[in-house]
Order: sequence, then C-alpha cells, then structure tokens
Amino acid sequence: MNKDVLQMLMKCLQELHLPAVRAQYEAVARQASAESWSYADYLREVLERECQQRRQRRTERLLKESRLPLEKNWATFDLKRLPPKAAQQFRGLLSGDFVDRQENILVFGAPGSGKTHGLCAVAQELVRSGRSALFTTTALLVQKLLAAKRDLRLEAMLKRLSRWEILILDDLGYVQQSREEMEVLFTLLGERYERSSVCLTSNLPFSKWEQIFKDAMTAAAAIDRLVHHSVIVELNVPSYRAEAAKRAKANPE
Ligand code: ADP
Ligand code: MG
Repeated sequence: MNKDVLQMLMKCLQELHLPAVRAQYEAVARQASAESWSYADYLREVLERECQQRRQRRTERLLKESRLPLEKNWATFDLKRLPPKAAQQFRGLLSGDFVDRQENILVFGAPGSGKTHGLCAVAQELVRSGRSALFTTTALLVQKLLAAKRDLRLEAMLKRLSRWEILILDDLGYVQQSREEMEVLFTLLGERYERSSVCLTSNLPFSKWEQIFKDAMTAAAAIDRLVHHSVIVELNVPSYRAEAAKRAKANPE
C-alpha cells in the first residue's frame, strides 16, 4: 500500500478508536484475498473483531469494578446441595430478567449455606453478559455511606451507586450498629426502591430484623420495600464448610 494512503488509514483508525481493526486489518485482508471474500465480507469481519474486543474489554472492566469474588462462580456452584426450589430459583436468575424488572433478591440461610457463593455466581454470569454489578459487604458499605453523609456527599454517593444495575449487599445480619448507620442503609434502600435491584444475603429471618434496624417501624418499612418486588431464596442447608470438614475427616488423604 502507498505510504500516504497507509498514513491516512492509520490516522482514521486512531481517530475513530478502532484498535482491533488497526491490529488485524492486514491479516484479515490476506485471508480475504486467499478466500476471495467480497468487500462486504471483509468489512464485516474486521468490524466484528472490533466489536468482539470491545465487548471483552468492557466485561473485563465490569468484572474488575464489580469487586465480585471471582472464585465463587457458577461453574463451582453445586446446585445439587440446594433445596430443589432454591436451585430452580438460582437457575432462573441467570436470565437476568429480575434486573430488568428492578426486582430484589433476598437470600436467607445459616452461615456456610452458600448464600454469598450463589449470589456472586449469578452476578458474575450477568456481568459476563454485559450487566454491571457491585459486590460489597453491608457493613463496609454502611461505613462508606456514613462517611459520605458526614462530608455532605451522601447524595453524590447514592447517585454513584445508582450506576450499578445490581447491588449486592452481603451479610445484612452482621451489622448491628448505631441507629445512624441503619438510617443511611434505609436511605439507600429507599433510593433504589423500584429503580434498580438490590441483592442481599442474611442469616437473620425477617422476624429478627428489628435488631438490625433498631426499631420495629423502620424494620417493617425496610422489609416492605425489599419484599415488594422480590425473589426470596431460602437455603436451609447445612454449612458447606462443616460438611467439607466432615468429609475430610472421614476420608483422610
Ligand atoms: P454463606 O454466605 O451462606 O455464609 P458461602 O457462600 O460463603 O456461605 O459458602 C461457604 C463456603 O462454602 C464457600 O467457600 C463456598 O464457596 C462454599 N459453598 C457453599 N455452598 C456451595 C455450593 N452449593 N457449591 C459449592 N460451594 C459451596
Ligand atoms: Mg456469606
């Protein structure tokens, strides 16, 4: 190719931000000419590669931003351990329809029953299909919300959190702190109510949420908002950790 033409081509590809086309147009051209492709086929192939690379980069960025523990994924999640209804519910969540319907997912079960693993596995699959998710422990998020409130940045932080289609609040039951902390959590739930999904895990049944929210009214209001459009998954299974320890004891290597 003539040097000026090549330079112009490079300039255009740079200006249009088409790095994959830039890196691959020559190799694809060789294949096109060897296999006598039409111009349209050639163009489709190079653009498709650009799209593919973009999707892949976006997924990588979303996965990194999600802070999901990647080892808790769908491939390592053993559905056979779950009550049949819960297994079916988790399978159903993979479609991501709950996100479009702004539904919440509430997962209950004893420590070690697979609440975090199940939710993270679903979220990771959905991020891989292009959705955005953020994983955080409830305790950490509450601390951040409180700090933001102190600095008069609460509204900005809530707005930033609304960027994520799926917000995972892990371990609601473990926060038992001040009323002020629960108030910011309540504000967050109100902010997302009917706008975007909240997925949370708790080892405390609703009947004990008064302990979390400090008073019966706030607990009832929080439950009301969360439950209104929601999928409730009950994992009444023994602790996976305890079972694994038992198995290890029974079959020492
Ligand atoms: P929880 O959040 O309910 O306390 P986790 O999801 O953290 O429990 O699970 C505890 C440990 O057991 C984790 O290492 C997790 O990967 C594993 N685990 C729990 N349930 C399953 C399951 N159904 N399949 C595979 N691993 C599981
Ligand atoms: Mg957990």
